Amino acid sequence: MANCSICSKQAIYVIKSGGLALCKKHFLEYFDRKVRRTIRKNKLFRKNEHIVIAVSGGKDSLSLLHYTVNLSKRARMGWRITALTIDEGISGYRDYTIKRVEELSSSLGVELKIASFKDYFGYTLDEVVKISGERGLPYLPCTYCGVFRRYLLNRVAREISGTVLATAHHLDDVVQTYLINIFNNNWSNIHKLTPSLTSIHKLFVRRVKPFYEVLEKETTLYAILNGLYPSERTECPYAPLSFRWQVRRVLNYLEESRPGLKYSTMKSLMEATSLKNVASSEAMTCIVCGEPSSHEVCKACQLRAELGLLELREVKT
Ligand code: SF4
Ligand code: ZN
Repeated sequence: MANCSICSKQAIYVIKSGGLALCKKHFLEYFDRKVRRTIRKNKLFRKNEHIVIAVSGGKDSLSLLHYTVNLSKRARMGWRITALTIDEGISGYRDYTIKRVEELSSSLGVELKIASFKDYFGYTLDEVVKISGERGLPYLPCTYCGVFRRYLLNRVAREISGTVLATAHHLDDVVQTYLINIFNNNWSNIHKLTPSLTSIHKLFVRRVKPFYEVLEKETTLYAILNGLYPSERTECPYAPLSFRWQVRRVLNYLEESRPGLKYSTMKSLMEATSLKNVASSEAMTCIVCGEPSSHEVCKACQLRAELGLLELREVKT
């Protein structure tokens, strides 16, 4: 490994596209500068916010919780921080990651709220996947998981009076989602892929992505350097079934042969999102559950109805 381009100590991170090598100290400064720039440029956090951080227990969300708590001490903006974990009910996986969230929240002195699919929807994700298979429905586990998790994050963040919901999506996640939506010709979703997503719906909690410009390998390194990287690697058993899994592999392969490709794809996304005002997303109210929605019936209620877990007659009055 090369020497640090700034201080000549042993480098631990090399940015091939920029011809830069960084030691531990200068990598952490570079990481901090990048995240703070995203926060400042996009006005992600305001004074006296109640920041709710979505923490699954993976390396990225543990890093976001750790980073934001430390930034809060430096910034002195009067932030209150709560970690919010969604327990989807994935046996042999989620229990283990929840333990990691509990340990980190308690060591950082942060409040933790856990909300489960079982409590809110009556079924775990494992049960939903089984019912879906029995009914011959065409959806993959990640479809249910993603829709129900987004729904619950917003609802619970609001119930605990959060003013902003921060997720640990990094540049790799954003670029993967961008490409998946291009493949599906889903431009309404592409326009939501901004560092900060607001809505004119009063029940929608503003959603932000502080790691928007940080590569996955950089959040991984941040986690390792701060002792947050899990000693035992656990992967969701449903992950390899998803299309995202394939897109991720292809993108990593392409980045190897063309360093900087992920950044240039993100620039393309920024151009695309600047073409349309996104403030109108989630502007309607679901006629079944009363939550914000981009259609008359929200996606979570539509999926539950198809699973036979909800009568569409249960219209909220
Ligand atoms: Fe949910 Fe899919 Fe992620 Fe597993 S891989 S936690 S099913 S979104
Ligand atoms: Zn609904």
